[in-house]
Order: sequence, then C-alpha cells, then structure tokens
Amino acid sequence: MLDPAQFVSTPAPGRSCGACTLCCKVYDVPALDKPLGQWCRHCRPGRGCDIHETRPDHCRAFHCLWMTQGWLGPEWKPDRAKFVLTVDPVTRFLLVQLDPGNAAAWKREPYYSQLKTWAAAAWRERRHVVVFLNKHATVVLPDRDVPVGEIGPGDRIVARERAGPSGVVIEVEKVRAAA
Ligand code: SF4
Ligand code: SF4
Repeated sequence: MLDPAQFVSTPAPGRSCGACTLCCKVYDVPALDKPLGQWCRHCRPGRGCDIHETRPDHCRAFHCLWMTQGWLGPEWKPDRAKFVLTVDPVTRFLLVQLDPGNAAAWKREPYYSQLKTWAAAAWRERRHVVVFLNKHATVVLPDRDVPVGEIGPGDRIVARERAGPSGVVIEVEKVRAAA
C-alpha cells in the first residue's frame, strides 16, 4: 500500500539513478530557467549531469519515489516506466510526471492497474493520484480519469462525493488560485 506516512526522503539501500536522468527532463528548474518537459542543457541523457558538483540545490535535494521506496520494483524506475513518481509534500497526493515523449506511458500495464488501485486507496483518505503532462493534470479516480486542465501556482484540485441516480459518484474540479 502506498502510505505517505511511511515514506522517507533519502535513497533506499541499493538504489541509485544509474542511467536514469528523466527528472532532468520532466521538471522545471527555476534557478536555470529550465522549463518543464525539456532536457536541461546540462544533462547528458542516460549519462548524468555536466555540472554535478555545482548543480542547483533544487536538483541536489530531489529524489523520486523509486529512489526512496525500496518496495517499488524495477519496472517503476523512471527511465523504464517513462514517468517520475513523487508525493506532494503538502497535499500528499501521488504525482505522476510524464515524459512528454511517452505521454501514454501511464496507460500501459502494469502501471495503469496499479495507479487505479492506489487511486482507490488514496480516495478513502481523500487524497488523489494525479498524472501530469507538463502542467496539464488528469485525476485518476477508481472508476474513471478526469482531465482538469493546466494547474497553475496555487490552483487546487477539489473532489467530493455526490449521490446520483446510479449511486455515489466522485466529482472533481480545479479551483483557481485567488487573483
Ligand atoms: S527520476 Fe529518480 S531515478 Fe531517475 S535520475 Fe531522477 S532521481 Fe534518479
Ligand atoms: S543541473 Fe544537472 S541535475 Fe539539475 S536538471 Fe540540469 S542536468 Fe539535471
């Protein structure tokens, strides 16, 4: 079970990035004016960072979930899965940041079934699994996937249960940050 309360922030024994450099593509790095979804100009994909000794703190501090959670199998390593898993430190949502070159990677198996299982478990705690293609978010619910568009700074994803003619349904919406 994916339980954020049990997560640690340091690499699990035996875990190392090896040939993976995917976080150097999928995330932005403000200190370098590096946008989301494009290789960092300092990255040698599959080999490493050209400025490893002087890389920004942002990079230095980052470890994806595959690095910190030893129970995630080799198929979840980002260079194989084609997405990077993290947990939002505030909402505790599970975030799936896709490689834009493999935007359907999360729909493959065993990933999609497992994301659905995690989505069902997360919903019981009113958390979510959210898949990002750059800034565009899709909320994974147990019974369907809901695109909610671009998520900007301060925007929130809000969900609630509503009684419908066929039973209880989960409604999801994006709430814009106050201007
Ligand atoms: S995505 Fe994870 S495994 Fe890949 S380089 Fe970044 S921290 Fe290492
Ligand atoms: S500076 Fe290095 S570690 Fe940071 S994103 Fe660029 S290549 Fe990756």
